[in-house]
Amino acid sequence: MKIAVLSRNPRLYSTQRLVEAGQQRGHEMVVIDTLRAYMNIASHKPQIHYRGAPLEGFDAVIPRIGASITFYGCAVLRQFEMMGVFPLNESVAISRSRDKLRSLQLLSRKGIGLPITGFAHSPDDIPDLIQMVGGAPLVIKVLEGTQGIGVVLCETQKAAESVIEAFMGLKQDIMVQEYIGEAGGADIRCFVVGDKVIAAMKRQAAPGEFRSNLHRGGTASLIKITPEERSTAIRAAKAMGLSVAGVDILRSNHGPLVMEVNSSPGLEGIEETTGRDIAGIIIQYLEKNAEHGLTRTRGRG
Ligand code: ADP
Repeated sequence: MKIAVLSRNPRLYSTQRLVEAGQQRGHEMVVIDTLRAYMNIASHKPQIHYRGAPLEGFDAVIPRIGASITFYGCAVLRQFEMMGVFPLNESVAISRSRDKLRSLQLLSRKGIGLPITGFAHSPDDIPDLIQMVGGAPLVIKVLEGTQGIGVVLCETQKAAESVIEAFMGLKQDIMVQEYIGEAGGADIRCFVVGDKVIAAMKRQAAPGEFRSNLHRGGTASLIKITPEERSTAIRAAKAMGLSVAGVDILRSNHGPLVMEVNSSPGLEGIEETTGRDIAGIIIQYLEKNAEHGLTRTRGRG
């Protein structure tokens, strides 16, 4: 197969591993700098040009689209879909997953366990919003933050009120969430490919920190997940329409709660922790599933 990897940087661990795994299995792997792909949106013959020439003959595309370029990246991916190239994850599913609130709404529709989450516009509604999610301590999240940035733990009602007011004053959309203290600063990253969890790791926040993101000093270790956690992760990825996803789960007193479904999950932490060839499994998934013109949505929102 001829497989495109949409990535801004060929030297990133995940990009390198996907290229390596594809080549090992005899495929032609081409890294395309997402922001340098440009499009001719013509009827009948949609095209993508790259460094002066049209891109042709691709069987599949692996999107590795960073959060800061979601809009442009999804447009490029959608153009590949219009050309009939099979996407590992579809553009529509990626854009859904980038909006934390929309993602939670889609997951709730499928009855997947979630932390109680509130969303409001007017400062007048702050007291009831806080009540709704069970009062302090609570977590406030900027809707489009990543790597734990814009995720704030408010220990008291007063702190929560002033932080929410401040974000609202800055016209920054936020959601307010029940704090799952019993998770003890840990979460579980389940790596889903197709309809299987192929690897899982526990991430533990650094001492004095509640966010377990590896970028915030969290440490990863192996973990055995329960059948309920496994099925929750698979259902969450499916609800989002993602074939490959990193599903982040909190262990609460009343079962697994999904915090987030990531559409471009990093490979480095999970491969190092589990010793599994995740990149190879992703390529195998494409070998089994990539069929010309086979997208569920063909770019429809
Ligand atoms: P990001 O997408 O920026 O990583 P998350 O929503 O995943 O943001 O939050 C970052 C981290 O904060 C999580 O990995 C988790 O450890 C912690 N966290 C987030 N929400 C909660 C919550 N409701 N209760 C307890 N811990 C949380």
